[in-house]
Amino acid sequence: MLIYLDIDGVMVPANSWRRPEILEDGFPNFSSRAIKALDRIISKSGADIVLTTSHKSLYSSKKWIAIFNKRNLYINKITSLPENRNHLNRKDELLKWFDGKVIDNNFVIIDDDKSLNSLPRYLKDKLIQTSGSVGLTEYLADEALKILEKSKFETA
Ligand SMILES: [Mg+2]
Repeated sequence: MLIYLDIDGVMVPANSWRRPEILEDGFPNFSSRAIKALDRIISKSGADIVLTTSHKSLYSSKKWIAIFNKRNLYINKITSLPENRNHLNRKDELLKWFDGKVIDNNFVIIDDDKSLNSLPRYLKDKLIQTSGSVGLTEYLADEALKILEKSKFETA
């Protein structure tokens, strides 16, 4: 099981009135609400993370694991989409990634990017869209778990 995870607008809500706190590792803190929600998705599903965030190529997988650990999130495995050299929007980046792949159906996409509204049906059905100023919530965690649960009974 995989969570395609964005960070800005998901783990770090975009408050125009407040700068996110930067921790000693140089990366912004995650919101406590988003941490709690993601932790629940991870502990109930055992999913690994594939980072889609524009920050994905800043650090190695090992460093990302440390960044998540520092924020009390314990993930088995963190990988990233390839570096977005052509500055594709998030929708095109995901389409490029899934294009031609035999898709294991067991995944959810968590992102606030509005370009994802025009994903084709088979991917949009996997999308949990956050509000960028709020980020990931308990309610959305439940919705993400439903998608992961449902995907177990679908054939890829
Ligand atoms: Mg975002």
